[in-house]
Amino acid sequence: MHIHEYQAKGLFRQSNIKTPEAILISTMAEASKACADLGGDIWVVKAQVHAGGRGKGGGVILCRSIEEVETACNQLFGTRLITPQTDNKGLPISQLLIEGGQNIERELYLGLLVDRQTQKITILASTEGGMDIEKVASETPDKIIKFGVDPLGTLKSDDCALIAHQLDLKASLADQFVTTLMGLYDIFISKDVSLIEINPLITTTDNNLIALDGKIDFDDNALYRHEDILALRDTSQEDQKENEASEHQLNYISLDGTIGCMVNGAGLAMATMDLIEHHGGSPANFLDVGGGTTAERVAKAFELIQTEKNVAGILVNIFGGIVRCDLIAQGILQAIENVGLNLPIVIRLEGTNAAAGLKLLDDSNADIHTEADLTQAAIKIVALSKEASA
Ligand code: ADP
Ligand code: MG
Repeated sequence: MHIHEYQAKGLFRQSNIKTPEAILISTMAEASKACADLGGDIWVVKAQVHAGGRGKGGGVILCRSIEEVETACNQLFGTRLITPQTDNKGLPISQLLIEGGQNIERELYLGLLVDRQTQKITILASTEGGMDIEKVASETPDKIIKFGVDPLGTLKSDDCALIAHQLDLKASLADQFVTTLMGLYDIFISKDVSLIEINPLITTTDNNLIALDGKIDFDDNALYRHEDILALRDTSQEDQKENEASEHQLNYISLDGTIGCMVNGAGLAMATMDLIEHHGGSPANFLDVGGGTTAERVAKAFELIQTEKNVAGILVNIFGGIVRCDLIAQGILQAIENVGLNLPIVIRLEGTNAAAGLKLLDDSNADIHTEADLTQAAIKIVALSKEASA
């Protein structure tokens, strides 16, 4: 689960990590009062969306007067922000963070994640913070400091001080750095975080170390034990189709292609998508309907697939291991009858009672193609969907 910058900064403050004075607003009427309450004469208006790269997408605007703040807010409220990290539809902006403009001296990077290779919680730090850290990591990886925390121990302040030294921080800032890094580590452990990041972590001309941005991703599997974190969820930032799917225990991800896929098992779904690509098509979605598929879930799956705007054909690929193929076939026929299907569809069934399932489908008067072989099924749906969209 992702959260907004202002929420991440709220957690930072609870862990003694410094953040700029800021006020969250959700209407135009609040803009000028927020500036007055904050004081100062430079403000930064920041779109609250679940994506980084906002600066590059025009979602972080530096303003030198209250009028400029109002113009910026007017420009952002109610629109969708497209950044290098969003798709081409972007994310809706309904909240803005008005923040005091900071006197930035240096922009550092500091983050923690689980490194699967070393199997350790790993600290990443760099002197090259700011908007292009991905570029730094890929082009000059030696500028990224890595430190793996001993999984049997804990993070020690000496380790943090060593990293502060590597970042070339003077003594007064080094102390603040130790507090900041210990604070991040504490959030990481206590809240079952998968990624926590401050980019940029700035040093100011008046000798402060401040988290200017904040990103925290939580491990969904552990959310059941963090009610406080779950309360921070903003579903308006999530894919509505994926949410609807998960309410029906379907694992669904929208993609850009033209062939809708309905498969049981994530591995089989990946293999099916590969095969579609291999034969010249492109999948419109990833969908794992799960092991114990029911007619109701199959119907929901058809409904979701048909709302993909580019979809020109559907490939159903079911391996009957736990479930019987004849029951699946009945479910598919029922779903087609209920939902109404206006796209070419190829159904491949394999496993328990596959022959009986295929016979049921062939004997029905629904307009469907059946295949026992997956390669043939992929070739067929690619051809049919090309015909349909020609
Ligand atoms: P994103 O990473 O989504 O682009 P950031 O919050 O990191 O958004 O902001 C992008 C850049 O804007 C920062 O690297 C920093 O240079 C500048 N910036 C952000 N907030 C402030 C602020 N309060 N004062 C001054 N500059 C800021
Ligand atoms: Mg940032």
